[in-house]
Amino acid sequence: MICVSLSARVPADALAGMEEAREAGADLVELRGDFLEEPADLPGLVARRTLPVLVAVRPAWEGGRWKGEEEERVRLLEAACAAGAEYVDVEFRAYKDFRRAGARLVLSYHDFEGIPASLDRTVAKMKALDPFLVKVAVTAGGAADLVRCVRLQKTIGVPSAVIAMGEAGQALRILYRRYGGFLTYACPRPGAETAPGQVPPSEIAGEADEVFAVVGNPVSHSRSPALFNAAFRALGRSAHYVRIPLEDPALLPEVVEALELRGVSVTIPHKEKVAEMVGSKEPVNTVVVREGRLEGHNTDGPAAVEALGEVRGRRVLVLGSGGAARAIVGALERAGARVAIASRRAGTWERRGATDAEIVVNATSVGMGTDESPFPAEAWRPGMTAFDVVYTPRDTRFLRDARAAGARTVDGVEMFVRQAARQFALFTGAEMPADVIRRFQES
Ligand code: NAP
Repeated sequence: MICVSLSARVPADALAGMEEAREAGADLVELRGDFLEEPADLPGLVARRTLPVLVAVRPAWEGGRWKGEEEERVRLLEAACAAGAEYVDVEFRAYKDFRRAGARLVLSYHDFEGIPASLDRTVAKMKALDPFLVKVAVTAGGAADLVRCVRLQKTIGVPSAVIAMGEAGQALRILYRRYGGFLTYACPRPGAETAPGQVPPSEIAGEADEVFAVVGNPVSHSRSPALFNAAFRALGRSAHYVRIPLEDPALLPEVVEALELRGVSVTIPHKEKVAEMVGSKEPVNTVVVREGRLEGHNTDGPAAVEALGEVRGRRVLVLGSGGAARAIVGALERAGARVAIASRRAGTWERRGATDAEIVVNATSVGMGTDESPFPAEAWRPGMTAFDVVYTPRDTRFLRDARAAGARTVDGVEMFVRQAARQFALFTGAEMPADVIRRFQES
């Protein structure tokens, strides 16, 4: 079930929020009495509901806004149940004071700072109280926490909702049913989150036979989930692709095992570390999981060469010596280009403007989310080609400078879709549909 959390301050907004939630695909809404300017409006609001409701009046000591008397809070919840609320959320720490009053009990536990060491014991006590649903909402600071929450959801053994709050926990919110969850919380629309990491119902997959992910640090810029999920939908495949922030690549095998990933796209800055881990000589941007074994591939190099067109005999300057750069240099050399490298690591960075190259490739992350170019504007000449691997934004300063000087440009999306299509084939054995690729290129 998808529960959209509303944070309305007045009843009219809550009623409008219910309609918006229904249209967005919610099965029920969470009405938060502690957000209402007049919490006493809660029972009347429940009586006028147009979707099943889960009521909560979250106290400040559990991360909510209610600062009034505890007895009054319990009375309010009981009145909301008497008005017909289908579900009532009562904090594990307040359970002893509460009479169920007809509604189904969601017994909840929240931690907005992290995951307490004692969580397993708390969960055992919550299960023993036999509520309708055990809700555990903790904060995932990274991939290790996500793994812990997914494992808890998979093994908890009672109807439950394990929520890993924060960006690191989004995969569990999105694929909650895949890992055994009964309920997930969503926001009505982006920007209206009531807890960190919520996504709108349209982004919730629930189930999927096959799960894939992009891992990196940062990873929020990645457009791979949009492209892969559009391709899975077009093929009617029960598969879903999520984003997982991964601070330490050594955690990758655990992430793969816990989330039962079939394939992984590896992005900045882990391509070289992952190559070491899986025993690959080339940087790895694609991991295929075969019978639990991680198999490394690289689709960046061939995709870059394909995006550039014929490069045999051409003089190419590659900026950078990270994962993408090394893969591109290897592929360019195999395709017969004459390659020079300018990078901080190689000690050749300062001389990058003094080049006779016909093609300059930005394979650094400079320009990703910023308006900077790694190449001096005055070094561009007409007839040169500028190729940027950075694709967020699509039209980078590097490309604009080149165009202004009369150079030809190839943007990062041209490489992105090609490396993704090759990954898709490695992951699934199927071709990424051409119209999905075209729509993505045009978007
Ligand atoms: P990476 O392994 O972390 O390498 C980043 C490279 O950028 C390193 O060589 C680094 O130099 C250099 N760099 C960063 N900041 C710099 C600065 N201020 N001045 C000079 N050099 C700087 O990352 P990656 O995986 O290769 O990815 C690089 C970029 O390519 C990212 O933006 C990524 O999104 C993009 N990418 C795009 C595609 C696509 O399909 N379009 C595919 C792959 C990657 P040092 O080694 O000296 O730190």
